[in-house]
Formats: sequence, structure tokens, C-alpha cells
Amino acid sequence: MAGSPPLIGCTTYHKRSDQDPPIEVFGLMPTYTEAIAAAGGLPVMIPLGLREPELEAILERLDGLLLPGGGDIWPTAYHGDATHPTVRDVNPDRDRVELFLARQAVTREKPLLAICRGHQVLNVALGGTLWEDVGSQRAEAFKHDYYGVHPRGAVTHEVRIRPGSLVARALDREVSGVNSLHHQGIRRLAPLLEIVADAPDGLPEAVEVPGHPYAVGVQWHPEAMIYRDPAMLGLFRDLVSAAARVSHSANGTARQPARLAPEAASGT
Ligand code: MN
Repeated sequence: MAGSPPLIGCTTYHKRSDQDPPIEVFGLMPTYTEAIAAAGGLPVMIPLGLREPELEAILERLDGLLLPGGGDIWPTAYHGDATHPTVRDVNPDRDRVELFLARQAVTREKPLLAICRGHQVLNVALGGTLWEDVGSQRAEAFKHDYYGVHPRGAVTHEVRIRPGSLVARALDREVSGVNSLHHQGIRRLAPLLEIVADAPDGLPEAVEVPGHPYAVGVQWHPEAMIYRDPAMLGLFRDLVSAAARVSHSANGTARQPARLAPEAASGT
């Protein structure tokens, strides 16, 4: 396998196309696969609708995983308010697939980059909760939801990054301007996660799993910023290099899944 670029799987969304008659589509914005390729990885898309044993077999063959942005997680997954009027674009099957893969990637020490919705999936998968709507529920919050307001790559607020964290190393900075295309956010942090960046209003903007080779969640969208801020590609480069390293050191033998407490591992 030496010399072969690491295989990075990206989960997908489900949509009905706007052609007449519509067709069912599993998809992904190309910025994600382009960022992985630009970082030296081989991107592949993971379909929805597969059973857990199939997802596990796919993850086994991947060197790394990317959980992209998307609609809201159905709040029942974190015992939240499923009737909150701002909850939008939910897909329980996508929740099931991504929550399962996120837990597996953490327990199997498979390198993982989780973006926006993915960052929230990682927190919920490990037992954390979300604000169903940051703007209306957190009194101290400023605006985070610039979806459709600005170009996706536009910087809208700063984050402070913890020195020495994987995110600080990837970006080579401790304060960064970021885009912000989310109306939800981390409420109670999952026990296995550490916050490594936050917004000036205190909202967690990046998390890591300490001791894991590379399990990073960012609330912003680095894939949409790599042309105006090439440092953002560092998050993808570090995912790809962690994937290469872990794959080579695993040497084809099964890794010991030992990181999760049983209650977090069993999940929903
Ligand atoms: Mn934000």
C-alpha cells in the first residue's frame, strides 16, 4: 500500500432532483471532494441506506472519514426538542449512518474530520447535546447563521484557537477568521471531546478527541475557504497524513476498539 494516497470516505445527503419526474439522489457538494484531493487524498462517497455491518466493512477499508455539512440532526437523537420550529432539513437515515460512522471512527481510531453538521454529529454521537437554534436560545449569542446571506467562503467572525491543539497546528495560528453557516451548535459537550476553539460569544467552534490520532470537528466550513485562505487546507492535509500514518502502522491487523465508554458506544 505504500505510496497509494489514503482513501477518505465522505458521507452524503439524500435529495429528490428538480427534474420532471424527480429522481432520488445521494450527493455531496464538490468542494469537499476537491479539498480532499487537493490535500493528497483519494475521496470516495458513502451512500445512505446501508446497514451497520456494511458501513463497518466500508469504514474498515477507508483510511479516513469526512463528515460534511448539511441539515439538522433530528433532535430526538440528543433528547432535544423535535418540535422546535427552526429545525429544518432533517433526515433520520442520514443521522443513523453518520452517528454510527462517527462512533466507529472514534472507537477504531480512524482519522476523522467533521465539518459543521459533522461537528455536531460528532458531539451527539459521543453523548453531547445541541442548541436546536443558537440565535433564539442562547441569550449571549451573536449571529452565526449567514446561510444564503454571504458567499459560503466569506469570513463572518473570529475564533480563538487553543495553542498546541491539532487545529492550531493545522492552521498555524491561534486566532482565525471563519465563515459561519449554522443555526445550531454544541450545548453540552460530549465527555470524550475537548473544545479547542470558540467564538467570541463562547460558542464552541472546534473540538478534538484527545489521544485519538486525528478526530477534529470544526463548526465552520474550511472546504469553502481554501482558495481565499489556503491555510484552511491544512485541516485536510493533516487528515490525509494521519490517515496515511494510521493505515501504515495498522499493517492490516484489526485495531483494538477500546476508547469509548459502553453507554456512549451503544448509542441510539
Ligand atoms: Mn459560527
